[in-house]
Amino acid sequence: MTTSEGTGRLLQIFWDWLRHQNLLRSPFFPVFFSLTVYLSCCLPYVCLDLLCSRLTLVRRFKLQPLSGVTWAMAWRCLRKTLHNHICFIFPISVVHWYWRPVFSPAPAPELLTVVKDVLACLLLFDMQYFLWHLLHHKVPWLYHFFHKEHHVYTATFSLTTENTGAWETLSLSFFAALNPALLGCHPLTELFFFVTNMYLSVEAHSGYEFPWSPCRLVPFGLYGGARHHDLHHLKFKVNYAPYFTHWDRLLGTLQGTQGKLRDTLKRS
Ligand SMILES: [Zn+2]
Ligand SMILES: [Zn+2]
Repeated sequence: MTTSEGTGRLLQIFWDWLRHQNLLRSPFFPVFFSLTVYLSCCLPYVCLDLLCSRLTLVRRFKLQPLSGVTWAMAWRCLRKTLHNHICFIFPISVVHWYWRPVFSPAPAPELLTVVKDVLACLLLFDMQYFLWHLLHHKVPWLYHFFHKEHHVYTATFSLTTENTGAWETLSLSFFAALNPALLGCHPLTELFFFVTNMYLSVEAHSGYEFPWSPCRLVPFGLYGGARHHDLHHLKFKVNYAPYFTHWDRLLGTLQGTQGKLRDTLKRS
């Protein structure tokens, strides 16, 4: 058996197990899954925030080493996340569940198709959020009413990812749900995209850059990640794309290439 056949078999076993779980067909699943994945992605960074003031080793990787996270800040963000999930995501996902019952075909997708589809969904999401984000910074009343909440903190920490108002939460959830449907993705691919998108979004807000961070692994500065998004929260008028750098590069709004953030901070 070749490696690709082995991986394909593993995917099929995992998909067979998953589609026989009643939870997947429950109207509670989307909100439960969204909260569980989000909090699981944040947890390691919350632990690092706790260690950061005590350990120089951790502080070395912090993008704004002088910034700290208090319990009050963490609780404020967490409260917002819970409020948005209970008041908006849950009712909408119930309506979605009613109108479009969960479709679960027997065959699992091929690994290469999963990778290609997840990447295509990410690139589409990156473009949609870039346009949404640019518009909500350029039009003052849109910024004031719909995006300002997300800019309460000028130094990012993981829990600021979902510190967003209702309109921003719904817009981003809509883009995330739309893309797999537009591209006709397999439900398992949709789940993988959701987890990847959530992880990258939390990573972009983590406030840390490690040697294994995505921006260090993707070559040619094609990926911005935490450093770029932290700079957006600090400067407001740069780095509007959430993940990749090509849109900001094209529109001349890219700032903060590797190793430059501290210099920028010193100059400001
Ligand atoms: Zn912004
Ligand atoms: Zn942000």
